[in-house]
Amino acid sequence: MAALKVGIAGAGIGGLALAAALARSGHDVTVYDQFDAPRPVGSGLVIQPVGQAVLFRIGALDVAETHGAQVTHMLGHATGKRMPILDVKYGSVKGRPRHGLALHRAALFHAVHQAAIKVGVRMLASHEVVSVSDGPKRQLSFTNGEVSAPFDLVVDASGAGSPLSPLRARALPYGAIWGVVDWPDDAPLPAHQLSQRYEAARRMVGVLPIGLLPGGTRRQTALFWSLTRDELAAWQASPIEAWKAQAKALWPEAAPYVDGITQHDQMTPAFYSHGSLRTPVAPGLVHIGDAAHRASPQLGQGANMALLDAWALSQALVARGDLADALALYHKSRRLHLWVYQWMSAVFTPLYQSHSRFLPALRNHLLAPVAQIPPSPYILSRLVCGDMLPPLRSGLPAP
Ligand SMILES: Cc1cc2nc3c(=O)[nH]c(=O)nc-3n(C[C@H](O)[C@H](O)[C@H](O)COP(=O)(O)OP(=O)(O)OC[C@H]3O[C@@H](n4cnc5c(N)ncnc54)[C@H](O)[C@@H]3O)c2cc1C
Repeated sequence: MAALKVGIAGAGIGGLALAAALARSGHDVTVYDQFDAPRPVGSGLVIQPVGQAVLFRIGALDVAETHGAQVTHMLGHATGKRMPILDVKYGSVKGRPRHGLALHRAALFHAVHQAAIKVGVRMLASHEVVSVSDGPKRQLSFTNGEVSAPFDLVVDASGAGSPLSPLRARALPYGAIWGVVDWPDDAPLPAHQLSQRYEAARRMVGVLPIGLLPGGTRRQTALFWSLTRDELAAWQASPIEAWKAQAKALWPEAAPYVDGITQHDQMTPAFYSHGSLRTPVAPGLVHIGDAAHRASPQLGQGANMALLDAWALSQALVARGDLADALALYHKSRRLHLWVYQWMSAVFTPLYQSHSRFLPALRNHLLAPVAQIPPSPYILSRLVCGDMLPPLRSGLPAP
């Protein structure tokens, strides 16, 4: 397609990856974010092999890999149970070993931001988008009163709080508090493993090695503790030492990580929601990433989905000469993969985060043993890697 003028709302994972991919194809790209200076929020996440393939294509994988930690195993136990409840090894496909790339969000942001700037993407901070105009050439309006130049295509990549997306997601009762602490020198847990401990489905504590911060030399850990929206206020009001004692009683091996937390504001709450737009495209407008679909991070796929959206959209614009055709192709190419992962996420989440007594019992006594029997380990590994089914359809090149 001939070079387009593209405006992207949101310099997050999806927005920046798309900006880099489009600029590499010769489009004129401007990205707007509400931040006064580009910076990330939150703790750590895992980029799965499908997401790593997109990072490679946009020139961001090297930087991401120099910062991130390779995760080869995800292992979770319920209290009092010897058999693992979660036991997923990445393994190999066609003889090539695979891993999750666990990163501090700042490191991931640094990698995709650098890749975008290098190929000439224009970034405008302090631009909080409020609306987008109708019509063949779309314009963005901002809280500071400015209105953008007209764009051939506006992309809404402004995440779960998008002011442009019509998506009304269903709030999930559970979320988690997330913090980052130094990886302890005498770490009792393996440095290439996501480790979790569960008490029924009411409580979960997790430890994820996430490598280095940009410019940092000390390896970091993401620590998370599952709780409900209703429990947050009580957690904030009680002494931090009381929570630490509770976490350590649930999982004594987590003590050196939990001890890195000394005050409440080191832990950030994040609550999850679930839902997808039926149609993420309209003339001259497309919603990608969390602005188009949201799920709990139980399967660790949200950032990967945003990266795949970005790649698919960039490739649809290469494949079609007409913008409307390209947007239709984009929608078609991602529909099935997204639907399956949203469905899987909805099924898995209550097994790990709910008030149910029945679901964790089913998980512990039936699903966990079945998960050890071939070909279940292979299927689970492909599910986590993000390629249980092809991430793109309709003849678009996979990343
Ligand atoms: C606690 C937690 C853990 C997670 N763990 C994982 C994981 O392990 N693996 C995984 O793949 N996913 C994980 N996810 C999901 C993942 O973080 C999201 O799916 C992903 O960040 C979505 O990318 P995005 O580009 O759509 O949005 P974001 O990355 O959220 O980016 C949105 C951007 O838009 C900007 N913005 C918002 N509103 C405006 C506005 N009005 N105007 C201008 N700019 C705006 C924001 O400042 C931000 O920069 C996790 C999510 C949470 C909450």
